[in-house]
Amino acid sequence: MQRKIILALGGALGLVVLILLVMRAWPDVRAENFTALARARWQFTLVPLLLLLGWETVSPFFPFFQGRRDERLRHGARNVFLGVLNAALAALLFAGLWWAAAEWAERHRCGLLHLVALPPWARVLGAIVLLDAWLYWWHRLNHRVPFLWRFHRVHHSDARMDVTTASRFHLGEVVLSHALRIPVILLLGARAWEIVLYETLLFAVVQFHHANIGLPEWLDRPLRCLVVTPAIHKVHHSRLQPETDSNYSSLCSVWDRLFRSLRLRAHPREIQFGLDAFDAPPHQTVPGLLKTPLEKDRRPGTEG
Ligand SMILES: [Zn+2]
Ligand SMILES: [Zn+2]
Repeated sequence: MQRKIILALGGALGLVVLILLVMRAWPDVRAENFTALARARWQFTLVPLLLLLGWETVSPFFPFFQGRRDERLRHGARNVFLGVLNAALAALLFAGLWWAAAEWAERHRCGLLHLVALPPWARVLGAIVLLDAWLYWWHRLNHRVPFLWRFHRVHHSDARMDVTTASRFHLGEVVLSHALRIPVILLLGARAWEIVLYETLLFAVVQFHHANIGLPEWLDRPLRCLVVTPAIHKVHHSRLQPETDSNYSSLCSVWDRLFRSLRLRAHPREIQFGLDAFDAPPHQTVPGLLKTPLEKDRRPGTEG
């Protein structure tokens, strides 16, 4: 009972903080202010991270770290370390390239979003939907193409998925996906501030659906019509390959419905996360995670 009260109070406080953040960022969205939005992005990363860490502490869905605070800290630190490494690489190498591609597309009126004159709200909505559709197919390719799966399995080898798993991606996957984003920006004609807005929304939702939390069915059901919820993404991290190869959506859940890849579990507490071949402790250290793509893939149906 006491746990429910803490959760309700924390949830209400978190919701107020998020609403205040949205209200603060709203003028910058309306003004299409790239710099201010890029700054706000960090707030929309850190505030959800802290709120979800608190939620996982008060009411974890799986008791991975019960009475093992040090282990939780080590696990989170490794995942966040990869996330910081990836964010630094993205800022140093790709932010400028994305911005230049978006500016070039804007100047030359290149890309799908320049084909028809849309009102500003429809344009930004179109940019978000199209960028998300690309991410769905890119994620699906990561499961289908053996070379890409070598990198992507770093994300899937976490047997104790929590909010920090949202940051656990191999540098190689980040380089490939960020480099491919450049032709996508040109093809779509997305503007720089639209890309920042999409990335901000995306990572907040990605952190939410990786968190070791469970929503009551009355809340998850309507929410999962719109975005990917923890109930959807838990199935994607299952050890069973047909479940791993499902639920590829990242922000909007519509893509899995549209392309028939949605799977749900009636009893999500029975799901086991991770990859059998990568459970051993040496695979879970930072050097082990970085070396994972070099390991022979023992997944049936991908490589010999
Ligand atoms: Zn995946
Ligand atoms: Zn995931």
